[in-house]
Amino acid sequence: MMLNIRNMFLIAIVLLKNTFKLWLSINLWTEKMSRETQKICPRCGEPYRWIYRENIHGRSYLYAVHEYIDENGRKRRRKCYLGPEGNYEYVSATHDLEFYGLTKEDRYIRYLEEIIDLFDVDEPVPTDPEEFKKEFENIMRTKSLVKKISYKIDERLRKIIETIISDIEASIDLLKRDYPDNPQAQEILKELSKFDDELERSNLIKSFRILKEDVLRTYIERYLLLKNRLKIYNL
Ligand SMILES: [Zn+2]
Repeated sequence: MMLNIRNMFLIAIVLLKNTFKLWLSINLWTEKMSRETQKICPRCGEPYRWIYRENIHGRSYLYAVHEYIDENGRKRRRKCYLGPEGNYEYVSATHDLEFYGLTKEDRYIRYLEEIIDLFDVDEPVPTDPEEFKKEFENIMRTKSLVKKISYKIDERLRKIIETIISDIEASIDLLKRDYPDNPQAQEILKELSKFDDELERSNLIKSFRILKEDVLRTYIERYLLLKNRLKIYNL
């Protein structure tokens, strides 16, 4: 009887020890994970542990959950309200967070997409003179901004095409100069020259504005394929 109690006691100790070890390793792992995926709360600027979603009457409300140690050394939690899920305010407040690491170009595309979502064409036009005037002025301002964006985008596209053309021509010159006896290089050179001629004939530098997107894309794809083959010559 004595022996049985002693054995049970030992077994209990071993079990407790193993549970503690498991608890410790889980804790260390979650600590590591949270450090690696630390995100900053858009409301208070402090890092948060996770986003908490609360469902009330079929709508989701989001909170950033912060953990901290209080003056008595106890772990505490506090929540920052971020707004309803899918709400523009929340999206814009966390924008740089959500798309963190993306390029500037990528980010403005997201902004534009959100603006398009905000635009409700079917909304009734107000007939109150004050409201009507405001609406009209806003629309005119938007229209002029869209024109400016369109102009800038065309300018950027022109620059992209100019870059392609000058890059192709530089590659042609270099292959001619550095690899005159390399048959493989001369093969690529032939294709580059053909491509260069086509670009010139299509007058891409001017025609890109009226060109269909898929036609423009075939030029870009061809350029990228050639670039891929030029890699071995460091071009
Ligand atoms: Zn916060």
